[in-house]
Amino acid sequence: MPRILIIEDEAKIIEAIQKSFSLEQGFTSKTVSDPERAPQEAISYKPDLIILDIRLPGGDGRQVIKVLKANAATQHIPVIFLTGMSSEGDRVLGLNLGADDYLTKPFGAMELVARIQAVLRRARPQSMGKDEVRIQGLVMDQSNRVATLHGKRLKFQPREFEVLYFLASHPGHTLSRSYLIENTSSYGMDVSTRSLDTHIKNIRKKLGPAGRWIETIPKLGYCLTPPE
Ligand code: CA
Repeated sequence: MPRILIIEDEAKIIEAIQKSFSLEQGFTSKTVSDPERAPQEAISYKPDLIILDIRLPGGDGRQVIKVLKANAATQHIPVIFLTGMSSEGDRVLGLNLGADDYLTKPFGAMELVARIQAVLRRARPQSMGKDEVRIQGLVMDQSNRVATLHGKRLKFQPREFEVLYFLASHPGHTLSRSYLIENTSSYGMDVSTRSLDTHIKNIRKKLGPAGRWIETIPKLGYCLTPPE
């Protein structure tokens, strides 16, 4: 059952969100309104998704998402941003900061549920076996360290394989450079961000046109988004 952390202070909005969850019996949720406490709550509650309002008492949702994305324990959790009607700047900034989607207030219950389901679907690694990841035509078998694209074998350096495997296991998620380095350094050969950028460059080249699936998120890291 997906767990959802709601970071919001307005009772009316919280009520609307919880009401929409009753349409969908499968959600459980918890609410926190204090932006200072929100990241800690995300660590302890371990939600599958976070709904984050931009306007919070004594703080700002943008600050909260920065903290969430900078912490290895929370940066993989997808975030849906709530914004006001006319704040296009907020929306763009929210997405740049790593939000997976945004919703403009007021929103409909069915729209919210549909957005949550779409984000959760994207967030779920499309794994076949335990060690195999398939995205569109890309198949990565970690135990045999074999990668193919549309049936054609790709040759990666060990570190490149690790980086691509990790990105492909988290489709649609922005992964920071430090998080990628931390989680792909089993070979321990190099840990600099510059070498990571070089690996990404090589991976893109080897993937050919599919190299475009890997997006550079300025100041944050990388995100692999397969075409719909
Ligand atoms: Ca608010």
